[in-house]
Parts: sequence; C-alpha cells; structure tokens
Amino acid sequence: KRRNPNDPEFLQAVEEVFESLQVIAEKKPELLDDGVLERMVEPDRQIMFRVPWVDDQGKTQVNRGYRVQFNNAIGPYKGGLRFHPSVNISIIKFLGFEQVFKNSLTTLPMGGGKGGSDFDPKGKSDAEVMRFCQSFMTELYKYIGPNTDVPAGDIGVGGREIGYMFGQYKKITNEWSGVLTGKGLSFGGSLVRTEATGYGLCYFTEALLNNKGTSFEGKTVAISGSGNVAIYACQKATELGAKVVTLSDSNGSIYDPEGIDLASVKEIKEVRRGRIKEYCETHPNAIYMEGKRPWSVPCDIALPCATQNELNLDDAKELVKNKVFCVCEGANMPTTPEAIHYLMENGVYYAPGKASNAGGVACSGLEMSQNAEHLSWTFEKVDEMLKDIMVGIFENCRDTAAEFGHPDEYVIGANIAGFLKVAEAMKAQGCC
Ligand code: NDP
Repeated sequence: KRRNPNDPEFLQAVEEVFESLQVIAEKKPELLDDGVLERMVEPDRQIMFRVPWVDDQGKTQVNRGYRVQFNNAIGPYKGGLRFHPSVNISIIKFLGFEQVFKNSLTTLPMGGGKGGSDFDPKGKSDAEVMRFCQSFMTELYKYIGPNTDVPAGDIGVGGREIGYMFGQYKKITNEWSGVLTGKGLSFGGSLVRTEATGYGLCYFTEALLNNKGTSFEGKTVAISGSGNVAIYACQKATELGAKVVTLSDSNGSIYDPEGIDLASVKEIKEVRRGRIKEYCETHPNAIYMEGKRPWSVPCDIALPCATQNELNLDDAKELVKNKVFCVCEGANMPTTPEAIHYLMENGVYYAPGKASNAGGVACSGLEMSQNAEHLSWTFEKVDEMLKDIMVGIFENCRDTAAEFGHPDEYVIGANIAGFLKVAEAMKAQGCC
C-alpha cells in the first residue's frame, strides 16, 4: 500500500490473492520464504510512453501507452493490450498481476504481463485506428519479441488492431515472428483464438457443473458485455443446451426471455460495430434496460464478461434472491470482494477469472507453439486441447482447494495453485 497508494485496482487484486495465501501461511509457511511474496507483487518493469498520432482532421493527438512486464519466471511475458479511455497504470498492473497466476494455471510456459493505452477506438475511422496502432508499436517494439514478451488483445483490441500492430512490427524489424497472438488466420493466427475465452469459460463452467451432478442443459444464463468474450460464451453456452437471456454494453443491457439470437448480435457487433440496444429494433419481445447491468433478471448461472468491478454487493444480493447458483467470471476481476464473499456465503459456486477465463491465453500459447513450428493445427485439434486445458484448470482448482482444507472454494484453489508453480520457479532461479 505504501508503494502503490494510487493504484486501487492493483491493491484489490493483490489483497484477494494474499487472502487466499493466508491458508499457505498457516499450513505450509516454508512455501512463502525467500521473499517470494515481496518479489511477486513488484513488476519486473513498467514501461510508459507517448503515443502521438494524426486524426482525420490533420490534428495531432497524444495518448499514453503502457506495458507492464510483471513476471517471466515460467516463460516469456504474455498478456493482452487494452485500448480504453479508463486505462491507467493501476488497471494495467492489476491485469498483469492476475495474468501471472492465470498463465501459470494453463500449464503452458508463459509469464505474465499486460499493456495498453487510454486511446478510445470507439467512433474512430479505420485509418485513425491504424495510425494509432502504428505509432503505439513504433515504441512498443523495443521491448517485445517472440521469446521476450508476446502481447495479445483485450478490451478494444481485436483482430483489426492486432493486424495493424503486427504489420508495423514486421516493417520496423524486418522479421516475421510470432510476436503477437490473436493474428489473422492468413498470417499465423490460430483457429479457435477468437472463440477461445468465451468457449473456455463455458468448458470450465461445464466441468464445475458436471462435478456437481448437473450441466448447462436447460439452465437460464445471464451474460454481461457484448464483446469478444461475451459473444462466444453466449454461443457455447447455447450449444451446451442453456438459454442465454442477457447481454450488455456500457450504456445498458438487453433481456430477451426467449433466448438471445446470436446471429443478430454478431451482425450488430462484429459487422456494424453498433450498440447492443439496436438488438431490440428487430426483436420486439426483448427489453432494453438503459443504464442497467443485467444482474436483476431470473437466472441459474451468471457469467460476467464485460469489465472489472461490474458485479457489486447489490447485484450479488439480487442474483441470490433470483436463485443463481453458479457465477463464473469471463472478465478480469468483474466481481467486487464484498460480492464474492456474499455469493460464497450463500452457497453460490464462484470461479475467479484467472481460472475460468484462462482459455484465451491458453489458446494464445497454442498459437505461439504453432508459430514456432511453422504449422497450423485444425480447429478440432485446438478446440480439443482448449477443452482439456480448461477441465484441467478446474480440476487443479478443485483439488488444491480441497488439499488446503477449503473444498469448493475455487478462488483459494486458483490462487494457491497458480502461486505455487511461479514461486517454485522463482526460488529455483535464485534472488532475481
Ligand atoms: P471487448 O472490447 O471485445 O468487449 C468488452 C465489452 O465489455 C463491451 O461490450 C463493452 O461495452 C463492455 N464494457 C467495457 N467497459 C465497460 C464498462 N466500464 N462498463 C460496462 N461495460 C463495459 O473486450 P473482451 O470481450 O475481449 O474483454 C472483456 C473482458 O474479458 C475484459 O475484462 C478482459 O480483460 C477479459 N478477458 C478477455 C480475454 C480475451 O481473450 N479477449 C481473455 C481473458 C480475459 P462498450 O462497447 O460499451 O465499451
């Protein structure tokens, strides 16, 4: 707290992990020696830089760029880039910190990092987005590389932005390498990467449900967000037999009691880059809730897939009142600490994003492997590997939670399991 007084999101993420690690302190304190905790909360380095670009009116704009390289004990830094006006160093640090544990849970050799900018792609022309991405990469390229740091997408950074940044990296370095993941399929991207976080979330959730003798079949699901994660979570949950009744954006939520028509959502979001309320223009039975989050509707399962702290204590009370029994996070840290405690005290199965949304980075790891061997794997092969990884993450969280005396507390399982692997690697590598 003394070192990070102005970083509330970062402190929130660290406090959640430390709360779980109390269990280790009580049962196996030797696992916490060598200053491993103190080292783990201090990023290896934080890079901040100016991103000047020229808008369509010929005026120079300036944004701030960030890359926080948090920990590379188990592999090259890996984590997404977020372009959103709310981006600041606290948010990038919290995301980078979470990424260290998440990447550890995937079992793949990836360290943790995160970056981005306070640039807002909304309302910008393609040419403006391209000029911004080129300027951003003109500085970032100095710090990344296929064996050093491999960024990917996040909020506001999809295939279009990754393509522009990859093109600029290639031009500056005169080298084609797997330096970014989430690339287009014609230039080294992996099949399933677009779907991976949403699909992976559903594979994790289905494993949890199966473990409790149930499944998605016949369940009603509330999802927030209408971006990459939300859309593919909606698709997979529906394929697994659930009825998804909500989606949202930062302006409001839609509620379709008949079940979301995903083809229509994809047309609005992926083709037109429109707003979710446009759904109601073609679906008269759907309701638009202006300025509201989707947590007030009756549902069995909630999958928050928009952004941090989007499900607070009041939302948790509403969900419990409406008989929700499972909350798995697609976004990073969407549930506030008070809400998490309330859900768990009321018997709701709760899974933290660092476990349940790890499918995106897992698939990015598979993209790195394909790039390294100059091969492309089939959709079926990558999807099968993704499913195995997500079921494995669930089992690891479940078994670790039980081993440390907290069965069904997946947040404890995720934090401890993620931590132990990184801590062991750091200790083996000496004081660095
Ligand atoms: P997108 O940019 O594709 O979509 C983000 C969605 O969340 C949009 O619907 C957006 O609405 C909404 N949103 C963003 N900020 C807010 C806000 N302050 N309040 C309400 N809604 C908001 O991003 P992704 O789907 O890729 O990412 C969503 C979450 O998942 C993030 O937390 C991200 O870190 C996490 N994640 C993403 C992964 C990936 O592979 N993409 C991997 C792992 C985690 P609007 O259009 O109005 O801004």
